[in-house]
Amino acid sequence: MVYFIGAGPGDKELITIKGQKLLSEADCIIYAGSLVNPELLDYAKPICKLHDSAGMTLEEVIDIMQENEKSGLTTARLHTGDPSIYGAVKEQLDILDQKGIKYEVVPGVSSFSGAAASMAVEYTLPGISQTVILTRMEGRTPVPERERISELAKIQASMAIFLSSGMLPELSEKLIEGGYPRDTPAAIVYKATWPDEKIVETTIAELADAGEKNNISRTAIILVGNFLKGEYERSMLYSPDFSHGYRTGNSKGSTSNE
Ligand code: SAH
Repeated sequence: MVYFIGAGPGDKELITIKGQKLLSEADCIIYAGSLVNPELLDYAKPICKLHDSAGMTLEEVIDIMQENEKSGLTTARLHTGDPSIYGAVKEQLDILDQKGIKYEVVPGVSSFSGAAASMAVEYTLPGISQTVILTRMEGRTPVPERERISELAKIQASMAIFLSSGMLPELSEKLIEGGYPRDTPAAIVYKATWPDEKIVETTIAELADAGEKNNISRTAIILVGNFLKGEYERSMLYSPDFSHGYRTGNSKGSTSNE
């Protein structure tokens, strides 16, 4: 059995209880060493075999899983954040399907959630934006034309941009090209929830300078949008005159929500 486990963004307590339990029972852990906090390996049992996948190929990872399977051993495949986002998990799951090896996926706290928590911000503010776009700049992995940052920027929704902190001048340019005003708030969140986390608040026009001044070119997520300003309309859900399935408000004719 292979368990794909979301490690969370960094803080070793931000793994799920289920993920921690499975890690502590695993005979072998293959972890994405470039981003997974090594403190999470403290949960492993003493005789557990550890492999850092940072220097391995997909084939090597699968070989280890297959060997473990033959010996009746359990593998935990530890991915940073949530495995479903830029986790390169699908290609592993497909090979395991072909080989008839059983697996289960355990979700994790993504870094976009960790970054918002560290900044105590909310992506979905009434009157500001009700949509969050999770995306990236094109790198060696191509991004479909219709999903280019300059296209997505036209929507002016809240954005969390992964895998792009090494391309801040281009990112800034594309955001502006797409129509965001130059003074739109942005934040560079480096190693969200790690002990050496760093949060740099800036604007989209100043992104590149801010990154350079603070020496950040990797392991950061870029947040963009007016939700960072903190101005918004009060939510309907908790308004005294708003009725919904769980509470009757003090004015008639309100529509229900949630
Ligand atoms: N599956 C992961 C993302 C993996 S892609 C998740 O759900 O978070 C790797 C990218 O994620 C990094 O380039 C960076 O943009 C972001 N990232 C991962 N951990 C981070 C952290 N602790 N703080 C900020 N960004 C992080």
